[in-house]
Amino acid sequence: MPSEVAASSKARSPLPSVDALLREPAIRGLVERFGHTAVVGCLRENLEQARAALRRDGEAHFALERFVAACVAAMDRAAERSLRPMFNLTGTVLHTNLGRAVLAEEAVAAATEAMRGPVNLEFDVAAGKRGERDEHVAGLICRLTGAEAATVVNNNAAAIFLVLNTLAAGREAIVSRGEQIEIGGAFRLPDIMARAGCRLREIGTTNRTHLRDYESAIGPDTGLLLKAHTSNYVVQGFVASVDGRELAALAKEKAVPFVEDLGSGTLVDLESYGLPHEPTAREAIAAGVDVVTFSGDKLLGGPQAGIIVGRRRYLAEINRNPLKRALRVDKVRLAALEATLRLYLDPDRLAARLPTLRLLCRPVAELRALAQSLLPALETAVGPAFAVSIVACRSQIGSGALPLEAMPSAALRIEPSAARASGSLVADLAAAFRRLAVPVIGRIEDGGLIFDLRCLEDADGFAAQLSRLRVTA
Ligand SMILES: *Cc1c(COP(=O)(O)O)cnc(C)c1O
Repeated sequence: MPSEVAASSKARSPLPSVDALLREPAIRGLVERFGHTAVVGCLRENLEQARAALRRDGEAHFALERFVAACVAAMDRAAERSLRPMFNLTGTVLHTNLGRAVLAEEAVAAATEAMRGPVNLEFDVAAGKRGERDEHVAGLICRLTGAEAATVVNNNAAAIFLVLNTLAAGREAIVSRGEQIEIGGAFRLPDIMARAGCRLREIGTTNRTHLRDYESAIGPDTGLLLKAHTSNYVVQGFVASVDGRELAALAKEKAVPFVEDLGSGTLVDLESYGLPHEPTAREAIAAGVDVVTFSGDKLLGGPQAGIIVGRRRYLAEINRNPLKRALRVDKVRLAALEATLRLYLDPDRLAARLPTLRLLCRPVAELRALAQSLLPALETAVGPAFAVSIVACRSQIGSGALPLEAMPSAALRIEPSAARASGSLVADLAAAFRRLAVPVIGRIEDGGLIFDLRCLEDADGFAAQLSRLRVTA
């Protein structure tokens, strides 16, 4: 058939018409998959390019089969989803660039159901009248943190913004110089404060802030005291900061609200799972903090969200702020969050069901065994130009939690076998792994590509695509 199409249109132009192309079997297949409009658009674009090429090179270079193949490839490329699954073998469990927490199956099911049809998002089913969307999670959050009231917004940055704007607009927020935090992605506390309409009142020094620094800064202009969890760095040496309990007592005495940004925050005592201690929301509430904020998709292991807990009167003020409407979450995330929080009601099975905790708790022996089982297939896939070995490494929680603590883990390390291989060989290898159907993301360290296996749960899926690995230098 192709030759016929070419011959019939040869009289005027060597290029086939769009109509003639639409009769080609391969193009008809594209129409089935992507629809008439998209395919015609693609054909026109490719014909335009072919016309330009013909003007440049002369007739001899047009080949129908190659043209059709190019159209099919272009349509396939355009159809590839932009946001897609990855293998996170970076060793950072909560990797912000890779979407942070992986949700529990219970949360996935709840979110899917909420997406499929109407839900009682703001409807009180028993009373048959309007309800509050926060009601679906507020009770659970209060139960898990010991707080009087709770609300949920888009993320922790939004939570901090809303709290500052509600409680301290036009006034001062007192913050220690040791806690002037910047978190990746241009979240800087002083900038957020300016946008929230409050003035930053810095006290103390970078390494030392005392209770008397807070005391002497409090005055008629004070909107609130803010303590921020220095989640992504540590100041060591001659340091002093004021304990939450002491600050809470001072705030109470002076009748100013005391707010704490916990950052990652967690709802369980990580030490009981053999992990390093991270401040819990319950501890902050018990210490007397008036308002506490933390993320939903860090250690909590749920969807992106910012959780605000604390005293009823402050939460009521926060909920009355018109900005709350701009920062609220939708039914899908609320469904996922509620299902995630419910897992915490059964602590005995939490580490099995909540992926974040499950991954953090994986014993190193299990990871080493996994490395052993994957080693032969990986050796075959990378070929003789590379050597694969099993190495001990350290994973980290990520997203700012516990910056200095790292958990022992096991990794597969791939390095060029030749002692004097080109430096770009490892980069080419990493690129080849990123080109796989489900890209594999590791980290490059000391001239080798490291795959930390802590977050690899679908080992079969990982192994199944190894045969398609192509390293092109
Ligand atoms: C991560 C973090 C934030 C920002 O939280 P998002 O949920 O990403 O908006 C704010 N403060 C601290 C201390 C953090 O660690």
